[in-house]
Amino acid sequence: MNNQKDVKLKSGNRALMLLCLVLVIFLIAGALYGIRGSLFPAFGMRPPEIDVAAFSHREASQYTTVVKGEDGIHQGDLVLVNKTYPYRGQDSTPLTYVYDYKNNMYKVKDMEVSLNRRVVQAFNGMLAGFYDATGIHDVNVVSGYRSSEDQYRIVQEKQSETLLQNVSSLAAAPGYSEHETGMALDLSIYTDMGITHDFLGQGKYHWIRENAYRYGFVLRYPQEKTQTTGYDYEPWHYRFVGVPHAGIMQKENICLEEYIDFLKQYPYEKQHLKVRTQSGQRYEIYYVAAEPGETAVPVPSNREYTLSGNNADGFIVTVTL
Ligand SMILES: [Zn+2]
Repeated sequence: MNNQKDVKLKSGNRALMLLCLVLVIFLIAGALYGIRGSLFPAFGMRPPEIDVAAFSHREASQYTTVVKGEDGIHQGDLVLVNKTYPYRGQDSTPLTYVYDYKNNMYKVKDMEVSLNRRVVQAFNGMLAGFYDATGIHDVNVVSGYRSSEDQYRIVQEKQSETLLQNVSSLAAAPGYSEHETGMALDLSIYTDMGITHDFLGQGKYHWIRENAYRYGFVLRYPQEKTQTTGYDYEPWHYRFVGVPHAGIMQKENICLEEYIDFLKQYPYEKQHLKVRTQSGQRYEIYYVAAEPGETAVPVPSNREYTLSGNNADGFIVTVTL
């Protein structure tokens, strides 16, 4: 009798263990695949395929210098334009009409909307990727470059719309709008039926939020950064900053204000930032503080690089390795 009971107990234990094992496997598989998007949005977001590390050293012999005047800090992909730092730059890349330069994976409000040419190029790539992933082609670029005068009119419109004097969290004061750089754009949705919706970046459109960094774009005013950016959440407003920089901001979960500070940990004299994107492209990035008057900015003598002002107090050199 006892033996039989033992056998029954043992087989009962075994069945229980098997059940637990199946349950554990089911939970792990569920967590990994099925429910990650809905229950854990943070885990549902694909981790950026980008490596960020500090260089252990640099080789000074491989650098030379270029001299930049004070206007240099107001030019380039990384200019920070906000309520503290007005835009004073004139970008060297000419503006182009989006309509003339776009692919057919998205729409543009009219033939006047214009952007920096390399921004349209990057946006074409992003919207081609979006179309491949979703089959959707109704994203509409409603605003790109704006002059200070355009911005002045927008502020007046907002004031009469809202009956508020202070609309600073809704629209930038003239001179303080990122749209004046030609590197920022606003999206809406314009369906084939001719219906316009706000671009909220939800559902299939969330792809753009998740993948923008691969094309050098960042969501400029995220919900969790309103204290830092000084602007309400704007799911429709994207800014071009360049591929390695957008990747780092995505990985570190920081907005442009924070990123400009973050880069100061990597001055030319110390360790440089090293980045590898998902395509295997590697970059070296460092910061150079601006001197009064002219600044001798160290740049690599034997490699391609871009140099951008931060529109605040210095330069960022991005070396292609
Ligand atoms: Zn905008």
